Amino acid sequence: MKTYINTKLQQVITDRFICPVCKQKAYINNSVVKCSNIECGINFPIVKKIPILINEDDSIFSIKDYINKPDNIVISKINIKNIAKRIISFSPSLSNNLSSKNNFILLNNLLSTKIKPKVLIIGGASITTNTDMIINPNNIVVESDVSIGPRTQIIIDGHHIPFENDTFDLLIFQAVLEHVADPYKCVQEAHRVLNNDGLIFAATPFMQQVHMRAYDFTRFTHLGHRRLFRAFNEIESGVFAGTGVALGWSIRAFVNSLIRNKYFRFILSTIVSFLFFWLKYIDYITHNNKGTFNGASGFYFIGRKSDKVLSDKELIKLFKGY
Ligand SMILES: [Zn+2]
Repeated sequence: MKTYINTKLQQVITDRFICPVCKQKAYINNSVVKCSNIECGINFPIVKKIPILINEDDSIFSIKDYINKPDNIVISKINIKNIAKRIISFSPSLSNNLSSKNNFILLNNLLSTKIKPKVLIIGGASITTNTDMIINPNNIVVESDVSIGPRTQIIIDGHHIPFENDTFDLLIFQAVLEHVADPYKCVQEAHRVLNNDGLIFAATPFMQQVHMRAYDFTRFTHLGHRRLFRAFNEIESGVFAGTGVALGWSIRAFVNSLIRNKYFRFILSTIVSFLFFWLKYIDYITHNNKGTFNGASGFYFIGRKSDKVLSDKELIKLFKGY
């Protein structure tokens, strides 16, 4: 049976599949994942050994797209030709993540009390900022995405996570929640599939311009982000990229807004990178300042599933800006 699916998807994971449409048990049946509910009975295809567990009634994505053109479903952050990729690889980045290394050290420490904890990465088609730190023999890691990338084990849409309640010990949304249509629904689903003491880690932008083209919908202040995770107890939260990164991105966006020709925009973006890459280093000095909470590029949150909900009265007491 296992030969039909990616061998990284262990049986302890596939045994907990549910149908993303009717939420009843689903199981691998030869070359499909089959919903066990007779009235629903959907067969979800397995493409390139990757189960496509999408609820098409409530998703931007359609199952037929994965069958017809699986290689085109890669929603790349930078959708450009090879020569441009080479230039970008030479030019210094305007971005820098201050916290992710420490975030993953903390998460691994928090998981170390468990035997073979299960981790679900949403948006894990490729290794992004330090996610490889959580991929080690101690953890059972499920790398999911809406696109087929080098690391994708399963296609899922965060609005309908196709796993039973209380399945995972950690769920990761790194630079993902701005790209989902309804982040509140995705976090509710995360809460459902986490164990009672399950952990959540999210890093989400605040002062960032549109990226990934049409697939970019929402931004969060520090408190807006805390409210998104109101059904979790906070372990730690803060700035992952500060006002230096935000300013670099803003200069690039300003310059890009002056130019209509996409090739000139690309050239000017590259020049901005060389002129202003150093702004990101200022974040190391300012990331805890009050003003940074008013204007940071983005915030992270690490929390533990709770059965209590943080009230909005309690929420506003947590304001760290000015
Ligand atoms: Zn079903």
